[in-house]
Amino acid sequence: MSKPVKPMVGVSRCLLGGAVRYDGASRPCVIVIEQFSKLFDLIPVCPEVEAGLTTPRPPVQLTGNPQQPRMTGRDNPELDVTGAMLAYCDKRIPQLNRLSGFIFKNRSPSCGLGSAPLFVDGECASETMDGLFAAALRRRYPQLPVIDELGLLNSTRRKNFISKVTAAGRL
Ligand code: SF4
Repeated sequence: MSKPVKPMVGVSRCLLGGAVRYDGASRPCVIVIEQFSKLFDLIPVCPEVEAGLTTPRPPVQLTGNPQQPRMTGRDNPELDVTGAMLAYCDKRIPQLNRLSGFIFKNRSPSCGLGSAPLFVDGECASETMDGLFAAALRRRYPQLPVIDELGLLNSTRRKNFISKVTAAGRL
């Protein structure tokens, strides 16, 4: 008998232990690695690396207009990788059409889910932005179940996410 196919769920790659962060570190998430890997077929995605940025790399942050934020260097405002990230999103996100959910890294300018800081004139103006990749993914797939690493710590939100992904995986 063939094994049942598990729903495919995208994951910010650093949460799976990939050493892909700007400082060359990872942020392994035990819940994802130990629990979710049994339930789902986890698809690692690192938007910054896949957009062509190096590891390690200069840290970037969201800046400017909250409706059209830019991704610029934290230490060097002249560094602007917005175009590279948006071009990557245009190309990669249509390829993710078989996902039944996505688990994001908290606070990242690429992967943050309502948690990425936005800086205006050097000051933190809000901490409720989606990262550029997360925003583009949600625009393209508004029904896709999503959660971030903090949401996973809440058992009700975690169970809801699992239910929604499982239901989506049956479609
Ligand atoms: S938060 Fe996203 S862009 Fe940053 S290292 Fe993790 S997977 Fe890559």
